[in-house]
Amino acid sequence: MSELRLMAVHAHPDDESSKGAATMARYADEGARVLVVTLTGGERGDILNPAMDLPEVHGRMAEIRRDEMARAAEILGVEHHWLGFIDSGLPEGDPLPPLPEGCFAAIPLDGPTEALTKVIREFKPHVMTTYDETGGYPHPDHIRCHEVSVAAYEAAADYRLFPDAGEPWAVSKLYYNHGFLRQRMQLLQDEFARRGLEGPFAKWLEHWDADKDIFADRVTTRVECAKYFSLRDDALRAHQTQIDPTSFFFATPMDWQQELWPTEEYELARSRVPVELPETDLFAGIETDG
Ligand SMILES: [Zn+2]
Repeated sequence: MSELRLMAVHAHPDDESSKGAATMARYADEGARVLVVTLTGGERGDILNPAMDLPEVHGRMAEIRRDEMARAAEILGVEHHWLGFIDSGLPEGDPLPPLPEGCFAAIPLDGPTEALTKVIREFKPHVMTTYDETGGYPHPDHIRCHEVSVAAYEAAADYRLFPDAGEPWAVSKLYYNHGFLRQRMQLLQDEFARRGLEGPFAKWLEHWDADKDIFADRVTTRVECAKYFSLRDDALRAHQTQIDPTSFFFATPMDWQQELWPTEEYELARSRVPVELPETDLFAGIETDG
């Protein structure tokens, strides 16, 4: 089979390392071309690592996040492209303040859709990943990421749309990331309890009803990628300003994760090729010529 190509669309630098990172590392290792497209520069991200909360860091967030992203891409073995839109920030307060002028979530959909369509027509991915309609996390850029990705998936194949953005290309499959599942968290927490240890997820689980694990029912595709979990963690740690190394993300021993939950989860949202669900491979059903 000739070259397979996967494009993962994300809102901010660091999202690629927390959603589907081990899957990307696996496909890249197996010879596929993998391209991460980051829609915004992450300029409005908070510094979440106390060790990096320094005046000299605050003054040059955009630049630092570019360096962090480059390092993460290198670790995962993927290519990377910035789309160049401005981070909207996470609005907080009641009522919520208006979005900053000109930010990604506040500008009309057409600009980012055309920009992403152009990248799709150039890279010609067989498979695209993005977020579901909730964003997976209620950040305006994540919800916008969903909208732009779905619009560009459709537009890229339609010669009538954005004729200046290259020759049409029909992406075969579009997936939503669903790695953040209550079931998984409970399973890991139970393993701590079984060994007489206090797990790090009690607070999370307490505020997350089992019947609200809505995404678990939407998973169509489980990709085995346990071997690449440590690369995922390394890539996440490369985003030094965004990740506290003492975070609960890293609290579960690697061998438990690999044994108890060796996969990353996806929902097949659209397909132009015949599929059989459930599946274990994002490229299932895709035939490349030559
Ligand atoms: Zn994000």
